[in-house]
Amino acid sequence: MKNIFLIFLMTTLLITSACGQNKNKTQTKTSNKMKFAIEKTPEEWKKKLTAEEYRVLREKGTERAFTGILNTNKETGVYNCAGCDNPLFKSDTKFDSGTGWPSFYDALPNGVTLIEDATHGMVRTEVVCAKCGGHLGHVFDDGPKPTNMRYCMNSISLDFKPKK
Ligand SMILES: [Zn+2]
Repeated sequence: MKNIFLIFLMTTLLITSACGQNKNKTQTKTSNKMKFAIEKTPEEWKKKLTAEEYRVLREKGTERAFTGILNTNKETGVYNCAGCDNPLFKSDTKFDSGTGWPSFYDALPNGVTLIEDATHGMVRTEVVCAKCGGHLGHVFDDGPKPTNMRYCMNSISLDFKPKK
């Protein structure tokens, strides 16, 4: 009887520590069924967005590298979400990653939400707009200082607002 109790106790400890590790390892959210401040039906989004914006923002598509108009943009301003106008990135955190997609080393507070993405045989971190859940791209940890982060974004998901 004592042995059974010990096994039970050890199993509980193992499970608890495994969960704890997992929680510490990633700050991303795992559920794609999250609620956002702006929720629209697919029909409503289709009315608001172009076909290509819809494919990327709402169906998690990826634009072809070096095709986005904001990839080489060096003007001063703010990059908003193309779906809902939420401010996402400032131009002074943009850098040339050579990947063919607009890249930033930091996001604005309340700009983006990170979601664990295990599709396409890889474990990556998806970046979505924190306000409407629109797909923006992925974030990697091989970026420049001071954050070492590389937010690899689809140009079409962004709406650039030049500083006046
Ligand atoms: Zn948005």
